Amino acid sequence: MGPPTQATTLWKVKDLMSPILPNGMWRLFDKFYPILQHEDEILSLILSDSPLPDKLWWLPKRSRKYTTKSGYSLSKILADSVSSDSFSWRKNVWKVVTSPKIKMFLWKTVCNAISVGKLLAIRGVEDVGFCKRCGGDEDVIHVLGSCPFAQRVWALAPITPLPNLGNLDSVKKLLEAVAKSISLPPVGLGTAPLYPWILWYLWKAQNLLLFENRVWSEKEVLLKVTQEAKNWEHALQLQPTKKKELKRQEADLEIHPKACLCFSDAAWKETTKGCGLEAMTLKATINASLAMSVVRLVCNSDCQDLIGLINSGGQANELDGILNDIRLLSLRFLSILFCFVPRTKNAEADALAKASLLSCNVSSLAGD
Ligand SMILES: [Zn+2]
Repeated sequence: MGPPTQATTLWKVKDLMSPILPNGMWRLFDKFYPILQHEDEILSLILSDSPLPDKLWWLPKRSRKYTTKSGYSLSKILADSVSSDSFSWRKNVWKVVTSPKIKMFLWKTVCNAISVGKLLAIRGVEDVGFCKRCGGDEDVIHVLGSCPFAQRVWALAPITPLPNLGNLDSVKKLLEAVAKSISLPPVGLGTAPLYPWILWYLWKAQNLLLFENRVWSEKEVLLKVTQEAKNWEHALQLQPTKKKELKRQEADLEIHPKACLCFSDAAWKETTKGCGLEAMTLKATINASLAMSVVRLVCNSDCQDLIGLINSGGQANELDGILNDIRLLSLRFLSILFCFVPRTKNAEADALAKASLLSCNVSSLAGD
C-alpha cells in the first residue's frame, strides 16, 4: 500500500458504494483495484439503511474510543518489541495488589521519575546530589535498596525471604528482588504484599530528611508501613464487589408483562462473519415484530458480543451500519430490551437457524 493516486486521492467511502444497487451492496471491483488488499475487510462491512456521518475511530480499542490506557499499552508493546528486556511491567507494577498511588509510584521509580537527590541535582537543585544519611550518590536504587538505612529497614521488615539487595544495577532488578517476599502472618495482611509500602515509606523518609530535616527511625518507618498497608486492605474489603453491582443491575431490568419475547440466532459457516449475521438476524426479527404491530419487545440472543455492543452503544467496524439501524428501529417501540441468554436457553432458535443454514438466515419469533 502506498499513497493514493491522483485519481483516488479524494475518494470517500461512498465512492465505493453502488449508486444503483440497494443498500448493503458494494460497487464491483474495478474501483477497488488500488485497495485490493482490503477487499475482504470492505466487503464484510454491513451498510446501514440510512446514511451515517464519517467518524474517526481508534482501532486498538473494541469500543473504538481512545483511552490513555490503550494508548499506553500500545506504546509498551511497540517499545517491548524492540528491547529484549524480560522485566514484566504487568507483574511488577500494574498487577501488584496495592493502592493505585503506590502502583503509580512503582512505575515512576522504574522510569526514574521520582525526586531523589541525583535527579534533583540534574534539574538544578543545589546540594542534594548526595545521601544525607551516608554521603553516597542518592539515586533511586540507593534510596530504596542500597543505602545502609534502607538495608536496615529491609532487614527488620516482617517479610520472608529477606530480599538480597547487594549489587543491584537497575530499579527493575530491585523490584524483581523485593517482589519475591511475602509478609509474615503476625502482620495481619491478606493478599496484599508489604514490600510496595516499604518502598513508598523509604522514599517518604528520605524526602522528610532532605526537605524538612526530620528523621524517622527504621522502626518508625516500619510502623507506618504496616499501619498503612492494613488500613488500605481493610478499606478495600469494605468496598462492594462488582459481582454484587452486576446482580443489582440485572434486577433493575424489569420486563413488561405484555412484552413480546423473541429469541434470535444465526448459524454460519466458518468463512462468514458470525456477529454480522447475528446482527442481521436481530434486525430482521425487529422488523418482523414491527410488521406484526408489536409495541413492547424483548430480544434474546446468545451472541454476547452483539448484545454488549447494543446495550453499551459500542461500535465495531463491520457492524456500525447495522447497529445504527437497530438503534433507529428501537425508537419505534414503547419499550425494547436486548438480553443475552446462554445458548442452552436459546435452543429453539439455534435449531431453526442450523436447519436453514443452506438457504437463508433465520429468526424465530415467539410471543404471547
Ligand atoms: Zn544513603
